[in-house]
Amino acid sequence: MNSAKAEVSLRIVIVGGGIAGLATAFTLARGGHSVTVLERTDGSARGEGGLRSPPNMTRILSRSWGLDLAKVAVNCSQFVFNSADGELMGLVQLHEDFLVDLMANFVFLKHGDLHTMLLDLAKREGVEFRYNAAVQSVDCDAVSVTLESGERLDADLVVGADGPASLVRDAVVGEKVTGYKDGHLSLTLAIPTQLMEDDEELRSLTKDGNWWVWLGPSTLIHGSLINGTKEFSMVIALQGVPQETLEQYDESWEKSYPIEHFGIDFTTFDSRVQKLVKLARNVTPTVHIRRPILESSACEQARIVIVGDAAHPLVPAGQHNAGITIEDAETLGALFSRIQHRDQISRLLAAYEEIRQPRCNYAQDWELRKRIMMSAPTGPEQKARDAGIRRMMLYNDWTHIDETRFREMWGDEMEMFSYFSTEVVADWWTKWGSLLARNTDKEEMPTRPSLEVSVSSSGPRSTCVY
Ligand SMILES: Cc1cc2nc3c(=O)[nH]c(=O)nc-3n(C[C@H](O)[C@H](O)[C@H](O)COP(=O)(O)OP(=O)(O)OC[C@H]3O[C@@H](n4cnc5c(N)ncnc54)[C@H](O)[C@@H]3O)c2cc1C
Repeated sequence: MNSAKAEVSLRIVIVGGGIAGLATAFTLARGGHSVTVLERTDGSARGEGGLRSPPNMTRILSRSWGLDLAKVAVNCSQFVFNSADGELMGLVQLHEDFLVDLMANFVFLKHGDLHTMLLDLAKREGVEFRYNAAVQSVDCDAVSVTLESGERLDADLVVGADGPASLVRDAVVGEKVTGYKDGHLSLTLAIPTQLMEDDEELRSLTKDGNWWVWLGPSTLIHGSLINGTKEFSMVIALQGVPQETLEQYDESWEKSYPIEHFGIDFTTFDSRVQKLVKLARNVTPTVHIRRPILESSACEQARIVIVGDAAHPLVPAGQHNAGITIEDAETLGALFSRIQHRDQISRLLAAYEEIRQPRCNYAQDWELRKRIMMSAPTGPEQKARDAGIRRMMLYNDWTHIDETRFREMWGDEMEMFSYFSTEVVADWWTKWGSLLARNTDKEEMPTRPSLEVSVSSSGPRSTCVY
């Protein structure tokens, strides 16, 4: 665990007390800073649905932050792919050797459980929480935020963790960042496993840590146990939903409806899916608003930064939404635990961007690519996907898998799973930290030393930075 304390304690205001706000508040306070979280709600809301914690996230939660996940997490043992009508298409085992190499499990968590654990961590580090404190505006020059009540708070650093409809993002970018509803709608629900015990078919879903996946036309359904096996969480991800249907929904997780409200015909689906949706009481719809990927997550004056869904809203209820957010928090906290002087704030934010931007851009693209593929309408893309999944079934003998097959099966995922923010920051610091410590004036030194080389042939001028 990183117990380094900064040589200078900054006054930090965080806008938003969701997963990103809580996690960032914890890491910054642990690093020796004085942190206040402003949350617009009364703080009682807890997500009922599940979150996926892939190894890149679990590693931070348990190794770097010392959280004991055993009581609430469910370890994922394999991905089980079914066609919509329940035919088994493929099994992808998360073999023990694989997880040992990754130093962490793929686990399922209930959103509310993670929220509670992070809140406890942050409180233990002395973070101040102010609820019913909606931020109305952010001033990048003055480094301050103004609440709806008119109260103004000044800070050395403001962190925008105010979710996908972020107002801090608009201040950072300097204009309203607009997007459009791209036809993806995610419906999240959770069912007490007690209700599934009486049915023989459903009982089998309550026994192990499988990630159940059903692939239907323009529909991806995935589900797993959460809350220490007390609940089964499900996501019904729809693609190509008409705009007139989407009009009534937004990106928040605040509204819920009975399943009948959505008018989905499940009669061609696996009987287990049909029974599960009948047991659902509340279903939470969340739309995906596609926005341009940002060039920068910090304002020009480099005193305000955005994290989590405010910086990189991933398609909702996917695999990496929470993981990328936890990585943001670990990176920001680990960098600012090394600050020696206030003049280094902008340099550290530049370092943060340098580390996080490529990773977050990749994750945003990864999640959307996977969602589009996994919820593809009937057609050539769906056929190729299904053939790939059926082929994987044949590779499932871990002891005989060769490198080519391993790459086909896990290449994309490994890129996501193997990343360890704690180590990435430590490596960055080993390379550039001493230079940053020696120079406190932004003008004197860029984030890392660079040499511009003009390559001028007949083509345009290009610059390589070494
Ligand atoms: C109540 C809730 C339940 C969720 N449940 C699930 C789930 O079951 N499964 C899943 O995959 N994902 C869920 N999510 C989404 C998931 O938390 C995010 O995708 C991811 O963890 C990144 O979180 P975030 O903190 O960046 O954004 P969010 O989780 O959206 O948190 C943003 C926070 O900022 C606050 N806020 C916004 N504007 C202001 C303002 N102007 N002033 C002060 N505060 C502000 C919001 O009230 C919210 O608490 C849920 C989110 C919420 C808010």
